[in-house]
Amino acid sequence: MFLNHFEYFAPKTSRETLELVSRLGNKAKILAGGTDLMVLMKAKAISPEYLIDINGVEEFKGIVCEEGKGAVIGANTKLAEIQFSEELKAKYPALAYAAGEVGSSQVRHMASLGGNTCNASPAADTPIPLVALGTKVVINSLSGERELLLEDFIQNVRKTNLAEGEMLTNFILPEPVPQSACRYTYMGRRDAMEIDIVNMAVNIELETDGETIKNVKLVMGSVYPRPLVSKEVPPLLIGQKLSEALIEKAAEAAQGEAKPIDDIRASAEYRREIVKVLARRLLKETYDAAKGV
Ligand SMILES: Cc1cc2nc3c(=O)[nH]c(=O)nc-3n(C[C@H](O)[C@H](O)[C@H](O)COP(=O)(O)OP(=O)(O)OC[C@H]3O[C@@H](n4cnc5c(N)ncnc54)[C@H](O)[C@@H]3O)c2cc1C
Repeated sequence: MFLNHFEYFAPKTSRETLELVSRLGNKAKILAGGTDLMVLMKAKAISPEYLIDINGVEEFKGIVCEEGKGAVIGANTKLAEIQFSEELKAKYPALAYAAGEVGSSQVRHMASLGGNTCNASPAADTPIPLVALGTKVVINSLSGERELLLEDFIQNVRKTNLAEGEMLTNFILPEPVPQSACRYTYMGRRDAMEIDIVNMAVNIELETDGETIKNVKLVMGSVYPRPLVSKEVPPLLIGQKLSEALIEKAAEAAQGEAKPIDDIRASAEYRREIVKVLARRLLKETYDAAKGV
């Protein structure tokens, strides 16, 4: 399978990159790890005239975790670095775990966090915990910078909020509040390197009594064209202490909101069933983690 003819650029600074992104517009594609891009180009699903390889730009890489100030992760930070970061494992275990479940070790050493988001696959692993954590993305162009909640950035299958001339440069993760926890889980055939059938993240914050739920966010993947943030679960659980009966109600509510499709990996009916199973397990696990159990 041959690639189409394209012109290749390897900028060394963010300024140089933004100039290329602005000048070449929609005829160009950013090349981060290439683990999605090359697959699409080989299949002739896309044929960009220009590739802008950002791997030589140090400013787009790295993790900065500051005590009390959350974290900033560069868009071209490789998933393996996120998986093994001691700081991220301690502060954002759901993200480190999700990064470590993507593909194989070879894939994770190439693939970037920004690529996983910008590819906008409904089954992608890392956007789900990132949305649950309240992450913002930083979008840059020659005319300036803007920030957007990640849940507003991914709009549809392979569609993001990026305008022509813009690129994603950073992720900003808020500092986790005391007595809170965020956890991630998925159902899929990992040994076969298949992408997820359903994935889910839950973020729970407790009141100072250590038992009553103050805030909860449940996010589902692979059951909607973009990460689906449950609207029905929070009103059921906020102000309550989690019980088996409430877990059941919340899991049913999440199941009702999921709008999966049939595809080669699973039927819509099976996916809906799995939403309920994962929601039951994850709500309990996250609640216990927030309580420090
Ligand atoms: C064998 C295999 C297994 C895989 N398994 C999984 C899996 O289990 N879970 C999962 O979620 N994914 C999986 N993937 C998909 C892929 O590895 C991930 O989505 C990966 O994170 C993509 O990152 P990348 O750096 O390779 O992106 P690239 O392929 O370089 O780019 C992807 C898209 O994002 C755009 N882009 C990249 N960076 C930016 C930026 N900073 N600003 C604007 N646009 C940008 C590119 O132009 C392109 O359109 C798998 C892929 C393979 C080949």
